Amino acid sequence: MKNVCSILQTAKLNLEQTAVRLKVSDHILNRLLEPKEKIELTLNPTLSDGRHIQVKTYIVKHRDSLGPAKGGIRMSASVTIDDIQGLAMEMTWKTALIGVPFGGGKSGIQFDPVGISQEDKEIIIRSFTRGAMRHIGPEIYVPAPDMGTNEADMGHIRDCLAYSRGQSITNGCYVTGKPIILGGIVGRKEATGRGVAYTVLAACKKLGIDIKKARVAVQGFGNVGSIAAMELSEFGAKIVAVSDVTGGIKDEHGIDMKHLAGYVKECGQICGYPVAKECTNDDVLTCDCDILVPAATQSVITSDIAKNIKAKIIAEGANSPTTPDADEILAQKNIFIIPDILCNAGGVFVSYLEYTQETQREQMTLEQVNKRLNERMNNRFEQVFDYSQKNKLTMRQAAMDIAVGRVVEATQALGALP
Ligand code: NAD
Repeated sequence: MKNVCSILQTAKLNLEQTAVRLKVSDHILNRLLEPKEKIELTLNPTLSDGRHIQVKTYIVKHRDSLGPAKGGIRMSASVTIDDIQGLAMEMTWKTALIGVPFGGGKSGIQFDPVGISQEDKEIIIRSFTRGAMRHIGPEIYVPAPDMGTNEADMGHIRDCLAYSRGQSITNGCYVTGKPIILGGIVGRKEATGRGVAYTVLAACKKLGIDIKKARVAVQGFGNVGSIAAMELSEFGAKIVAVSDVTGGIKDEHGIDMKHLAGYVKECGQICGYPVAKECTNDDVLTCDCDILVPAATQSVITSDIAKNIKAKIIAEGANSPTTPDADEILAQKNIFIIPDILCNAGGVFVSYLEYTQETQREQMTLEQVNKRLNERMNNRFEQVFDYSQKNKLTMRQAAMDIAVGRVVEATQALGALP
């Protein structure tokens, strides 16, 4: 098979294969292959030093048959409209699978946030919000953080929207992943990584792996990767390799996650960490371990990497980390994959709790949030696992069948405009 790599190509291929299994009509498939709305905005903000820059930004609403579009804002120099379209499609399946009343959306800001001052980042985020304002709202599209964006950015988006409306926008949830003081929910920042760890624990139980003896490798030490690594190490697993965009480190005796997190907070990167051996990012993916958590970016597990992977479980913390040809190789090697639309759905599930909390105006406790998260991740893991066993499918195929099946049912029930 051809080496299909982009997020959009991977997403379309996964959908087409699912449509064949579910016998979805061409008419419905063609609707699901294309987004409902695709917007490209060019911004011209002026940075704090007086420099005028031009920034391309994108918003894609894939489907909203189960509710308003939901999906994060990715800020990266390399993000493209195709990436955002593929990620928005994935969000449609993720929200359907995890069972929250949202559709799929995503936005992108084509700018490298590494090294930029908070002041300049705020300028760009506010500029994006002003441009995108018509496309954001509790019943339209509700953004959240993704790669390169964070809580503080969500706070600025909320402020910018409130300012434009001349009111304090407490009449619904416009953005999730906000600071708690602005109506954010406790545990949202950690929810994706925590959800990854919960699904890993569930997979270990099915495969008879003792988490306390498990060796884990994690690619990416941002929001998702660092929290997943920290949780898994608290469950008793040994983290033997970790990387970020600057490179990797490994230690077969285990790396102290709290110490590493402190180092990264201070130095801003993993490279240079003095208490473990340096290695490459590919070494992290292919090292001798039981569980591999790709939690950085897309298309990192290619066919060449897949051939050398030694892990028994791959927990896809990142969106679309595995290319379709790699997926086939991993299936042949009998490696158990917890697919992204299940594995990293904890973030959007807790975003949904934030969305409902904002209407009720009552703060949930961390205990309540984590309990709901744990129950939902386990419940959906069981559902996907049972379906895969019953129908002799991989976990990815099973998750896609369940998710796409729900969206097809809703799409048919709604009908189409003439
Ligand atoms: P982040 O920006 O907080 O962290 C990304 C990490 O990956 C950083 O450590 C960065 O250095 C590293 N990285 C980037 N490119 C890399 C490369 N080529 N090789 C190795 N490391 C690299 O982002 P995040 O929010 O943790 O998101 C990570 C992934 O998880 C993305 O695919 C994102 O779409 C997905 N995701 C995030 C959330 C969320 O709630 N933040 C929810 C669902 C899925």
